[in-house]
Amino acid sequence: MTDVIIVGGGLAGLLTGAELKRRGRDVVVLEASDRPGGVAQTISEDGYLLEPAAGSVLLPTPELTPILDAAGVRVVEALAGSKRRYVYLRDRLIEVPDSPAVLFSPLIPWKGKIRAAREPWVRTEPTSDDESILDYLNRRFGTDMGRVAATLMAHGVFAGDPARLSMRGAFPRIVAWEDNAGSLIGGGIAAMRNRPKDKPRVRKTVHVAPGGMAGLADDLARYLGDALHTGHPVRSVTHTEGGWSVDDEFTAGSVILALAPHQATPLLPHDLADLVGRGTTAPVAVVGLGGRMADIPLPIGFGALIGPDTDLHTLGILFESQYAAGRAPAGHHLAKGIYGGAADPDIMGLSDEELVALMIEETSRVIGIPIQPTWTRVVRQVPGIPQYDVGHVGWMQDIDERLATYPGLHLAGWGYRGIGLSGLGIEAVALADTILNNR
Ligand SMILES: Cc1cc2nc3c(=O)[nH]c(=O)nc-3n(C[C@H](O)[C@H](O)[C@H](O)COP(=O)(O)OP(=O)(O)OC[C@H]3O[C@@H](n4cnc5c(N)ncnc54)[C@H](O)[C@@H]3O)c2cc1C
Repeated sequence: MTDVIIVGGGLAGLLTGAELKRRGRDVVVLEASDRPGGVAQTISEDGYLLEPAAGSVLLPTPELTPILDAAGVRVVEALAGSKRRYVYLRDRLIEVPDSPAVLFSPLIPWKGKIRAAREPWVRTEPTSDDESILDYLNRRFGTDMGRVAATLMAHGVFAGDPARLSMRGAFPRIVAWEDNAGSLIGGGIAAMRNRPKDKPRVRKTVHVAPGGMAGLADDLARYLGDALHTGHPVRSVTHTEGGWSVDDEFTAGSVILALAPHQATPLLPHDLADLVGRGTTAPVAVVGLGGRMADIPLPIGFGALIGPDTDLHTLGILFESQYAAGRAPAGHHLAKGIYGGAADPDIMGLSDEELVALMIEETSRVIGIPIQPTWTRVVRQVPGIPQYDVGHVGWMQDIDERLATYPGLHLAGWGYRGIGLSGLGIEAVALADTILNNR
């Protein structure tokens, strides 16, 4: 008998397990494969370090930082170059300032800039309770800015389709600004002003794990110690009088399924399984290209997102070795391209060789110089990235209502309330609060 059983030793399960341990609870984490970390399995080969899923995280955050610190997880600030970001639009690479000066960059025409700057005074009714990112940003900023911003946000975070992703589901904090202040810009300024005086603004910066996310997962696993059981695919989760039983081997008052929705459904009661099984995902291909710096002359920066109306298939190219140390051998560079997703599902039909050829051609176009890699790697993430499409918020409400009828049963992971590590950290803390307060 333990306090909490966590099924799934991906980053969600590990972070939640570490948070519960940090707060004095006995946990057992059961992971099917022989390695922790889930989809974030760093590839270390020939001096290259390729992240096929999470590669970086913004820190500090009030939720994630205490967990990583308690667990002794090694993360370092990215290289200074990480602050430079680019967008490829209208056949050119445009550097985009990370400040309100973005309004003066050549991303959108002047008439679009003027319309976007009027956002605080625009009074518009939402087209529905749950608008797509595209509808939402078009309504607030006008179509010039709306289309560019919606494409970059959808492609950059979800590899998603901006016309289908839910703004409220995918970016709830931004929507709250409009809800609270009637405008995004006004709400953002109010949020800054209302910050308690004794809490100075801490600027989040890009951080990376020196050994990659696999190293981060190993650090969390080390902290969990004997509580983590790898090579343990869970086959049954059943409600008992005193709580929950897993595989008739472990019992606890609470069980957390830290699994993607499609992985959770076989373990859930039927009514919940039907509901959770409606979660959607989109496969992506991650393509790594490495070679001598002279042969892959990447610009200094974090990478380039691809704007709307280009004939490129890549959703974004990350300049891995320009923002993180140790991603390529000395004198070499590593670039990482993301293909597919809900944004461009048909591209997943290409073979690995075709994807590599496409990325060589497209990276050459984006940076304006032909590249000649000597190291290539393709990783397919299938079924891929959860899509918080329109309807996601209602789906989550239905799940929460149904979960409330099963006290002690919880769901966690990137399928629900946050697609990246920051979201998983927030969720880990919220779950620990709920369990500690016995809700
Ligand atoms: C291309 C790409 C780029 C990304 N970039 C970033 C980024 O830069 N920053 C960021 O923060 N996030 C990023 N992410 C997202 C991040 O990788 C995910 O949020 C995170 O890895 C998801 O972790 P998880 O634990 O929720 O899911 P998973 O990793 O899917 O973990 C689920 C685990 O459960 C196990 N499991 C399944 N069934 C069972 C069972 N029956 N019994 C026991 N165990 C089981 C699986 O083996 C797996 O280990 C990216 C993702 C992708 C695909």
